[in-house]
Amino acid sequence: EATHKLTLANDITRALSKDEFDLHYQPICDLATTHVAGYEALIRWRHPTQGLMPPLDFLWLAEQTGQIREVGLWTLARACRDWPVLRKTTNTETPFISVNMSPSQLTGERFVEDVKSILTRYGMSPTELKLELTETVIINNPEIALQLLLQLTELGSTLAIDDFGTGHSSLETLDRYPIGTLKVDRYFTSSMLASAQSREIVSSSIQLAHTLGMDVVAEGIETEAVRNKLLELGCNYGQGWLFGRPVELKDISG
Ligand code: C2E
Ligand code: MG
Ligand code: MG
Repeated sequence: EATHKLTLANDITRALSKDEFDLHYQPICDLATTHVAGYEALIRWRHPTQGLMPPLDFLWLAEQTGQIREVGLWTLARACRDWPVLRKTTNTETPFISVNMSPSQLTGERFVEDVKSILTRYGMSPTELKLELTETVIINNPEIALQLLLQLTELGSTLAIDDFGTGHSSLETLDRYPIGTLKVDRYFTSSMLASAQSREIVSSSIQLAHTLGMDVVAEGIETEAVRNKLLELGCNYGQGWLFGRPVELKDISG
């Protein structure tokens, strides 16, 4: 196992220097109109021998080794570089690009400076950047994370709590952090038609978010029936295969 980790860690370093990572973009839509409101950037690895590798196969190690900081900055820079093209395919007054954050990214003062310099380099408005986090992002270092996240929201960027309802996100996070968007985990949306209990959890999450003045995105919408149920429950945004799978920039048409 140690050898596997070492090989993978070396491969990640090579991937960064040889530009083997890629971002796929998935639309986040207004549930009622299906207009594209924004996109979530999802990393992929075009591994020379193992083919297209999904994020969960390598991010865990990058997190352990600290390489995630560099991977995270690469992701942010690529998303900002691509944003002007993506932006043209949105249909809303407040378009955004969502980028996922990892726990060790939020540990040092440098992070905010790095984000600012990437935004400047690509002439990107901070208000169009949304950072997605789970509570694992905060758990390691709650006070520093809060300070850094506040600096980012002061710039005008917004925060989304990802996978809401699972073990990785909590009510305490909603209470203490300046969260603007709540993303209901796919686990609940995918079971909500079959399970009254899941449906109640989705419904309560939507109400909670709206009471707190947050937007709600339901993740993992695969069918029209689920979309309709979510609309009935007052959910405003959705993401899932029904609207579009994550695809390369060149395959985005708007
Ligand atoms: P996430 O942020 O919750 O992203 C949503 C995941 O659900 C994505 O998986 C997406 O492809 C998948 N998905 C979207 N719609 C549907 C659907 O209708 N049905 C089903 N079955 N799946 C759907 P993906 O791309 O494999 O990413 C997995 C996780 O890896 C992400 O979960 C996120 O936590 C993490 N991740 C991805 N890219 C990055 C990144 O650049 N940085 C960091 N730190 N984490 C990332
Ligand atoms: Mg996400
Ligand atoms: Mg999620």
